[in-house]
Amino acid sequence: MYTELNTSNRILMGPGPSDAHPRVLKAMSTPLIGHLDPEFVSIMDEVKSMVQKTFLTQNHLTFVVSAPGSAGMETCLVNLLEPGDEIIIGVNGVFGGRMTDIAERCGAKVHKIEKQWGDIITVEDVKKVLNICPKPKLLALVHAETSTGALQPIKEISDLVHNAGGMLMVDAVTSYCGVELRVDDWDIDAIYTGTQKCLSAPPGLSPVSFSDRAVQALENRKTKVQSWFLDLSLVKNYWGGSKRAYHHTAPVSSVFALRESLRIVLEEGLESRWERHNAVHQVLKAKLEKLGFKYLVEEQHRLPNLNSVFLPNGNDEALIRNKLLKDYNIEVGGGLGDFAGKIWRIGIMGESCTLNHVNMLISALEDMNEFKGV
Ligand SMILES: *Cc1c(COP(=O)(O)O)cnc(C)c1O
Repeated sequence: MYTELNTSNRILMGPGPSDAHPRVLKAMSTPLIGHLDPEFVSIMDEVKSMVQKTFLTQNHLTFVVSAPGSAGMETCLVNLLEPGDEIIIGVNGVFGGRMTDIAERCGAKVHKIEKQWGDIITVEDVKKVLNICPKPKLLALVHAETSTGALQPIKEISDLVHNAGGMLMVDAVTSYCGVELRVDDWDIDAIYTGTQKCLSAPPGLSPVSFSDRAVQALENRKTKVQSWFLDLSLVKNYWGGSKRAYHHTAPVSSVFALRESLRIVLEEGLESRWERHNAVHQVLKAKLEKLGFKYLVEEQHRLPNLNSVFLPNGNDEALIRNKLLKDYNIEVGGGLGDFAGKIWRIGIMGESCTLNHVNMLISALEDMNEFKGV
């Protein structure tokens, strides 16, 4: 027989999802209303305005894709790229690789800036590739590379691509509401994020935003967008405009949860939230280093909310990670790609970014017989 759902009370300190605030879970259990109910339409308007505030943008074309972060990535690429377009993509981890795959499926010509995992893409790297591809349509970067824990500088690269007549696209899935991110100040043309990382809402939605430059590019398309579901010319009327038209049925309960999580972010204040992530990171870092963990990424490029660390010598990472989950209810992430079996990815995101979380993890490690600290 199938039993009643009864999952363990986990403490989520991996690369996402992160712990959700009880207010968010409560909002999720609000009785359903129709997605074209005037009450739901105003909720969509509120969500849109809160997404603009948290992205620090005035962009009109700002809304929420009804699918996870990866669909936000695909939305940006399939709408901005046409066959034959040239795109420069920074590839220094999993997500740059995924962008490359999608861009190639769009028929674009991809120029990769390949760097070692854990490194960032520098201004010099971009200048070099602009010599080979002087007029890209798009330059795409991952702001917070969750597979490595590297924080990509965006602002200093923005002018380079705009001076070359191209647009700047940014993956902000793990940076949004966790580290400094300013869409208008940094002149970002296309951005997408996810709900389950530093926003601490359930997974499954992807806030996106497009500059006027990007809207112009959409209007100038010669070919149809290859995806019906993600075609902005169709979906944009669902999230705005004077006449709401049916496009698909929005995941009503997830939008309720998203609304509440955005309210929580704005109550705390974006800048206080960025500071909190940094302060908790400093404490976690000191405690991890005392136990003998070593960071993968150089200090000045480290992401505070995703800590990629090598375990002290003589530890079986998978064994300890599984024991943390089973005996202590704490989830941390393992490594991806070349770092599988070598590193841990410890997330302190949103509701999971508290001193209490840090203390629980460190105490569990100290308590565990199998873990050998220095
Ligand atoms: C998690 C993540 C994604 C994908 O988001 P999903 O919600 O898992 O689809 C994309 N980019 C980065 C940097 C991420 O961390």
